[in-house]
Amino acid sequence: MATETYSGIREDRPQTFNDAGGSSVDLTDRFKAGCFKAADRTFSQGLQCQQINSMAALLSLEDSAFVVHAPQGCIGCAAMANAGYHVGQAHRDVSIIRNARIIVTNLDEQDIILGGERKLHEAIEVAEEHYHPKMIFVFTSCASGIIGDDIEAVVASVQPDVDAIVVPIHCEGFKSKICASGFDAAFIAIKDYLLPKKRLPTEEGLINLFAPTSVSYKDQVEMERMLEVLGLHANYIPFYSSLERIRRIPAAQASTAICKVFADEFMAELYNEYGIPFSHTVMPIGIRNTDKWLRGIAAIVGKSEKAETYIESEHARVLPEIRRVRERLQGKRVFICGGTGRSFAAAALIEDYGMQLVGLETPTYNADAQIDIDHLNELHGDYVIDVANMQPFEQVNLVKRLKPDVFIGVAAWTAFLGIPTTHVLDMKRPTMGYNGILYLGDKMAERLDNPGFNKKLAAHKHLPYKQSWYDSDPFKFIKPLEA
Ligand code: SF4
Repeated sequence: MATETYSGIREDRPQTFNDAGGSSVDLTDRFKAGCFKAADRTFSQGLQCQQINSMAALLSLEDSAFVVHAPQGCIGCAAMANAGYHVGQAHRDVSIIRNARIIVTNLDEQDIILGGERKLHEAIEVAEEHYHPKMIFVFTSCASGIIGDDIEAVVASVQPDVDAIVVPIHCEGFKSKICASGFDAAFIAIKDYLLPKKRLPTEEGLINLFAPTSVSYKDQVEMERMLEVLGLHANYIPFYSSLERIRRIPAAQASTAICKVFADEFMAELYNEYGIPFSHTVMPIGIRNTDKWLRGIAAIVGKSEKAETYIESEHARVLPEIRRVRERLQGKRVFICGGTGRSFAAAALIEDYGMQLVGLETPTYNADAQIDIDHLNELHGDYVIDVANMQPFEQVNLVKRLKPDVFIGVAAWTAFLGIPTTHVLDMKRPTMGYNGILYLGDKMAERLDNPGFNKKLAAHKHLPYKQSWYDSDPFKFIKPLEA
């Protein structure tokens, strides 16, 4: 993996594509032949911005306050991350549940002309005065980037007057169309402002366990349970973490991540800077992926034999249960939509239950994705791939056309088509490891047996698209870029 320039902009990575659509076999052939053309959408219906991923990644850090240097609208999505934070606190037995401490500078027309640095300076002082945090994170935005506010200069000028460490994060939405770039922006800031500059003495068995915000507490517990079997203990980063735990990162024996796209380059950076080895494999959803994830970290710390014994015992425990649920799901046709890590992980899950993939929506297509796509092509033959960040209009067109028995993903739009929907992006319930497989299998089977709610939705509420759109080529707005 290229790490010489850790830019935080995923488009900088070689052979990375965000806009494409077509048959999985055709896209595979084109990618392998090196003639996969960069494209763009001439019409785009919403795009998840990287700023929300930067914010969501850090929102649950203890002793932190957050200053968003943006117009007010930019923090709209923070409500979703904050709701997840509420749930996470409840699951961790926090008795007084609180909001994340967010202050927005509310850039307006006057600031756009005259600059917003004074407002930012004041907002940082207010964050210090109100919350007395150990860390104040400053998130940039399109507006602050376009007007050229010098965030570092403001941070340097305010730092002597506040006790908190002030950390600027460059997550201007226009920098990248790949929202996972927001995770990188957060990690770059952690590395530059919070990590000790030297390798700490290695703490035997300590594993940096990097996890995205969508990982539920149940999943955290399941991952920690599996690591404990190998005699390892986790430094869970960055969720519900703290300044002290972040500073322990350079003491770890090894690193791994719960998601394929989360912290991948950061782990490579930790290897370059501190010599911490890392395992970058898959999201542990489904038997194949869970085995792979566990084997990956076990190999790094010399515990492969122990891992194999454990995997055998877990298979003996869960496979009979999987066979029971499989009888209800076998042969059902599935459309999957998710972030890159989740969508391929869900595809591994349906393999356990003998389901048939007919469509897959993923935000990015690159060499890493191709490894999963190769495997899925072998299992499912030809299916449709939509390389899209959001774009609900394409999704509903495809789902209506492909008529899957079940849709796996955020069901905000496809539920209105009346088909059963479920998702693996569950911040509240188990989805990962050997225990998550059973929960998700039962959940899918229940949705298929009880489709009434979505059927009623479809009968009473319609999506805002005309029949002419459903009759059109779903990829008609994707146009190759001029060389
Ligand atoms: S940072 Fe830019 S892309 Fe993100 S919400 Fe604000 S204006 Fe939109």
